[in-house]
Amino acid sequence: MVLMVQPRLVNGAFGDPSLFLDFSFGRRAILFDLGDIRNLSARETLRVRHVFISHMHVDHFIGFDELLRLFLHKEVNLHLYGPPGLIRAVQAKLGGYTWNLLNQTSPDFRLHAWEWSPEGFCSRQSFHARCRFEAGKARQEALRSKVLLEEPDFYVEVEMLDHGIPSLAFAFQERLKVNVHKSKLDALGLPVGPWLSTAKKLVRSGAPGDTVVVVDPEREVALADLIVAQALVSDPGERVAYATDFAYTDENVERVVRLAQRSDYFFIESTFLDADAAIASSRRHLTAHQAGEIAARTFAKRAVPMHFSPRYLGREEELLAEFEQGRNSRRSRQN
Ligand SMILES: [Zn+2]
Repeated sequence: MVLMVQPRLVNGAFGDPSLFLDFSFGRRAILFDLGDIRNLSARETLRVRHVFISHMHVDHFIGFDELLRLFLHKEVNLHLYGPPGLIRAVQAKLGGYTWNLLNQTSPDFRLHAWEWSPEGFCSRQSFHARCRFEAGKARQEALRSKVLLEEPDFYVEVEMLDHGIPSLAFAFQERLKVNVHKSKLDALGLPVGPWLSTAKKLVRSGAPGDTVVVVDPEREVALADLIVAQALVSDPGERVAYATDFAYTDENVERVVRLAQRSDYFFIESTFLDADAAIASSRRHLTAHQAGEIAARTFAKRAVPMHFSPRYLGREEELLAEFEQGRNSRRSRQN
């Protein structure tokens, strides 16, 4: 199966957190977190249109300048999503440079900062290169619960975690895929045709089984008959979850387990070794063992530990081993 996005850690397990989600089709990309992104090629970075930022600690936000420099003379809209304080942070970053060379004839680069609030709305502040990045009028938009971005083929969910400050976790979710099996359709004596797009759309929207689809002026068929005969087969679609910088509390763990449940990829911080559990707790981070336990509870197909503290450079094997121990200890309790 071809995945809709291929996720890749820009700086491996030890460097600044930044996850690049590269679309298999359509020359497009998404970033989860904005640490140093200079390991991406300019071509890759320029595919990005949406960036989701967990929080504005320096190792999660320092890539902003690189992004700004690459996009400055491009006619594009770039969207940044983040926790409360994002708009002020973007404004402060932009305010650190001199923009006298920009004017109404400059390429129309537009930066939109979306600040998420747990009350279910997003405030947007736009900054246009042609207006020298002076803050435009702020707007507020209501959101469908915990969905930050919705598109026809996918959406991005958010969850708020406690890291001493709010830290956002994200999940990319491809929408339900509905595939047609032609041999089964033949067995039902039904032709291929535009009616199938209607049937697929209905299945995707969760229509009841007795919903009738018109095949042609003489024939109609119930959705349930198509599904039982396996002429229409649905697949939940790809899910990529990303959770970093959060304390090991029951509430955080419950939220992350829900967000990453049965994901295809689950990227999770595993910052400290167990021997340093007290430091992990005081900095409101996880140990690799704790991360492994959480990963086991999600039943993710691939769990990827990341955001290793640089103090363990050269000791990656120990972190990976403790992550595996955490997974196995949780699994043995689950069995
Ligand atoms: Zn942090």
